[in-house]
Amino acid sequence: AHAKFKGVKDGKNADYIPILATVPSELFAVVIATPEGKLYSTGDADHRFSIQSVSKPFTAALVMQQQGGPQVVKDKIGVEPTGLPFNSKLALEMYEARSVNPLVNAGAIAAVSLVKARSEKDRWRKVLGNLRDFAGGADLPLLKEVYRSEYETSWSNRAIANLLYNYERLYADPEETLRVYTRQCSVGVSTKELAMMGATLANRGVNPKTGKRLLDEGSVPELLAIMLTAGFYDESGEWSYGAGLPSKTGVGGGIVSVVPGRFAIAAFSPRLNEAGNSVRAMKAIRYIAGDLGVGIFGPNPD
Ligand code: GLN
Repeated sequence: AHAKFKGVKDGKNADYIPILATVPSELFAVVIATPEGKLYSTGDADHRFSIQSVSKPFTAALVMQQQGGPQVVKDKIGVEPTGLPFNSKLALEMYEARSVNPLVNAGAIAAVSLVKARSEKDRWRKVLGNLRDFAGGADLPLLKEVYRSEYETSWSNRAIANLLYNYERLYADPEETLRVYTRQCSVGVSTKELAMMGATLANRGVNPKTGKRLLDEGSVPELLAIMLTAGFYDESGEWSYGAGLPSKTGVGGGIVSVVPGRFAIAAFSPRLNEAGNSVRAMKAIRYIAGDLGVGIFGPNPD
């Protein structure tokens, strides 16, 4: 898959977060991680990039884990796909749930506000600790320049946080939540680490490397369902139709896909399509899913 799509130049780096435009566009990595913790990797698989929205299902998992299962996400955030871009304010006005689902910005900001914490520092510590646990205890860093660049230009997300607060669908202070959310998106992760995070979900909630349970087995199907219907934003239908795998993308260029019970595929390349999803990462994962015939609805080689 890596060799096949290495030459693809379509799309462009995200630039609404100014620093993302400076990430070398040629970077490209593909990794498969198994429930035994075995990694098959190729390309720039150790290069750390900002996790961005790929962090969202993992913080949703933390909320489920802290608060007795998925029901809290359904009740306090929502689980409906929007069919609209990831930063939509229109979706927030249209749907009674407001935050809509934990994989778009509104719902992800709400999820951060739902993390049980005593202070902003504690909230951040829990969010980061959880991402590190999913990555098998890797020492994932905060990419400070990414954080600064994103927080300084966060007007749209600030509007979302304030709107949610207005509708009583944000459960902590808006600016504090926005800061922790933005830090969460600015965490550096390699494609290998991302594959390990996905493998935890493929392994029904237990991290393959540490053996630590991070999500109850009974909550995994709900989380994967949200990933299938909303992990690609307004492209989720097309992705499910093609690849048939619960997945999550981010504007840093990362994507993780889960083959439940079997393995995870992670890919990274910075150039994005219009919906904000990595062109080469999509092609690589779609190709692997088709070639191995592992789409959850049955083999789909075309
Ligand atoms: N941090 C980004 C934002 O809030 C995440 C968006 C994404 O990766 N799609 O806009």
